[in-house]
Amino acid sequence: MTKTDTGNFATLGQEIMTRIEILALHTEQEGKMTRTYLTAAHRGAARQIAAWMSEAGMDVREDAVGNVIGRYEGTDPCCASLMTGSHFDTVRDGGKYDGPLGILLPIACVGDWNRQGRRFPFPIEVIAFCEEEGVRFNAPLLGSRAIAGSFETAVLENVDDNGVSMREAMISEGLNPAQLGAAAMPEGDIAAYLEVHIEQGPVLLEENLALGVVTAISGSSRFILELQGTAGHAGTVPMASRHDALMAGAEIALYIEKRCNESPGLVGTIGQLNVTNGAGNVIPGHVVMSIDIRADKDSIRKLAVDDIQTEIENICIRRGIRKNLEQTYEAASVACAKWLQQRLKESMQRHGCTPRSLPSGAGHDGIIIAEIAPMAMLFVRCGNGGTSHNPGETMSAEDAAIASQVFADFVEHFSMANPT
Ligand SMILES: [Zn+2]
Repeated sequence: MTKTDTGNFATLGQEIMTRIEILALHTEQEGKMTRTYLTAAHRGAARQIAAWMSEAGMDVREDAVGNVIGRYEGTDPCCASLMTGSHFDTVRDGGKYDGPLGILLPIACVGDWNRQGRRFPFPIEVIAFCEEEGVRFNAPLLGSRAIAGSFETAVLENVDDNGVSMREAMISEGLNPAQLGAAAMPEGDIAAYLEVHIEQGPVLLEENLALGVVTAISGSSRFILELQGTAGHAGTVPMASRHDALMAGAEIALYIEKRCNESPGLVGTIGQLNVTNGAGNVIPGHVVMSIDIRADKDSIRKLAVDDIQTEIENICIRRGIRKNLEQTYEAASVACAKWLQQRLKESMQRHGCTPRSLPSGAGHDGIIIAEIAPMAMLFVRCGNGGTSHNPGETMSAEDAAIASQVFADFVEHFSMANPT
């Protein structure tokens, strides 16, 4: 067996970057990266990915939801597969690395093993998830849900901005919604799932590290808070007599910032804050704001949410504001398998990388695949301040090379025997 050298990985890193650019040409909006589920751009990307998988020596199929699955057969027919992959849909005007990196990197590695005639006892399945972001039909993680057997068929009736239902879109693209159940992979067929993904944040960049091992995909609690005060004339109502809904909202927002600063891994965001009928000379009487709290540890998130609720109560009583707090979303954090994290760290150490661990604040297909298989994620440094979901998203060919090397090392050392 030939041991692949570092120079070879530099070539693979370049190949990955070139292919990311080619895949980015499949977009709905000229000059922008927008590729939503089952559009012409999305279908074109699926065909391109399938062609690259095939060229890398994999057997390729498309399942009923539109996932593209490449299988590089193993030598032992009894072995469960090692699954890897990521998504190829995007947000509107997003980045080109979010998703495709985790598809094109393993395809490049498999292509390399195939050229060397190298096989492993276990099959490697590279899966290009068709839909993760939830943009077109307001329903995320469709590809991984189909694989995990947890696709909720009610979302087939969701419609896009043009009134086209998901069911209609699938049928017009030759997919059969009646076959969705058959896309599910039985538990036990997948020995482990590893996803390579850009970090989508600044942590690795700031620490000058190329790679990180994900500990858990953070859980989140989301709310809509409505504050009802009293509108009034900006010039006539003395400060002490006011019931200003925006000032209450501002105090709540600053409390959330302070509270979330107290625990590492805890983050809080007010992404929307709307003053109803706001005008420059009117004291705000009504405000609606969003609250998003996330942490890798559920206990930390729940404690913070309790404290925030108590403080909202206190602030509203003190300011004479009525409130309505409605929870819109709740998801527990999903831990990455400890034994897979350990093996990733060993692979990193063998190639001179500091084994840095960090949580993922963003959601990923791994949340769903963890329902049927042990799951792990390898993060790759994001350039440009860690910007993601934005055209400014970037990463380097050197990092693509080292990520391929660590991924290849992980696969070469992978065995299902006695995970510890
Ligand atoms: Zn992503």
